[in-house]
Amino acid sequence: MQWLVDIGYVQPERLPPRRTRVVHADASVVPDAFAGRVPEFAARAIREGLRKGPVLVQVASPGYAPVAVCAECGELARCTACAGPIGFRSAGRAACRWCGEQGAGWRCRHCGGRGLEQRGMGSQRTAEQFERQFTGARVVLSDGEHPHERIDSRPALVVATRGAEPIAAGGYRAVVLLDAERLLGIESLRAGEDCMRWWQNAAALAAPDGVCVVASGGGPVVRAFVTGRIEEWLRDELRDRHALRYPPAVRVASVTGGPAEVDRALGALRGPGGAELAGVDVLGPVPVLRRDVPPGLVRAIVRFDYAHGAEVAKRLRGALVADAAGASSRAAGRRPGRARPEALRLRFDDRGVFDGHLGA
Ligand SMILES: [Zn+2]
Ligand SMILES: [Zn+2]
Repeated sequence: MQWLVDIGYVQPERLPPRRTRVVHADASVVPDAFAGRVPEFAARAIREGLRKGPVLVQVASPGYAPVAVCAECGELARCTACAGPIGFRSAGRAACRWCGEQGAGWRCRHCGGRGLEQRGMGSQRTAEQFERQFTGARVVLSDGEHPHERIDSRPALVVATRGAEPIAAGGYRAVVLLDAERLLGIESLRAGEDCMRWWQNAAALAAPDGVCVVASGGGPVVRAFVTGRIEEWLRDELRDRHALRYPPAVRVASVTGGPAEVDRALGALRGPGGAELAGVDVLGPVPVLRRDVPPGLVRAIVRFDYAHGAEVAKRLRGALVADAAGASSRAAGRRPGRARPEALRLRFDDRGVFDGHLGA
């Protein structure tokens, strides 16, 4: 949206500010002030809020503990079936977060150890700890598996994953945001803007005289959120994207398929002499290592200026048609069967193209 404002496509309109008061309890400044899951300052805000009404605590991960490591050597535990990350859905119940394989027969690839250790605090473990820390408080858990849409105005400590925050009658007395580092560390080009949206959405659920506490983290995104100087941060972010040629400064297309197929498609983007078209550059191809993609496939990312969009799309679609036609003539005489795994696939402006695959 900031980019559309910058190019004059939309006009910004300033509405009267109705902004929740935001305070930063910086864990890196006073790490000792952490009593259990939250810094003492945030714990105080929770206790004060609970005297008058509901309090919201936003956490990054659902379940019990998002991460498991080998109890012997401390390496990140990987599923023996699919190499996916292992987490704890409930206390003592480890399972692969990709394929669901139970962790019971797990063995460490590095040291052969068989024990798994919990790391991090999911929504469920946080709620359990709050029941002990804030004795007598009504603790409500709201996540993808136990969603609550609304909550009444009586005192309650609501632990919610991002996006699953219930709306409180009259608003929350306090909104506490945990796990900023973990959310900002998600391997995604959009981690910063996603965090900003998740935090703004949660803060907006506070009562008009409520308070929002950011209980961890630092850096430009947290600073922009705490000070409310969000437009400046957006403009900085856009400037970086322009310098590094990342969306929305450029458009992208991902080209996936067998190595020969992808190579032929990228050839269609070269002019006479083999040089790439002006305003077009290619990242990769690199092997695709994903559970939902058969092994042996590669992917390239094509970045191009908006002005070249039509030309790039025409050439890549031409390559796609040629690939399908070539394959069907090679397969002539054979019965049409399953799709070839190495067949070309094209995706334009795929938002996940720069994301890692561990996520939150
Ligand atoms: Zn180990
Ligand atoms: Zn697995």
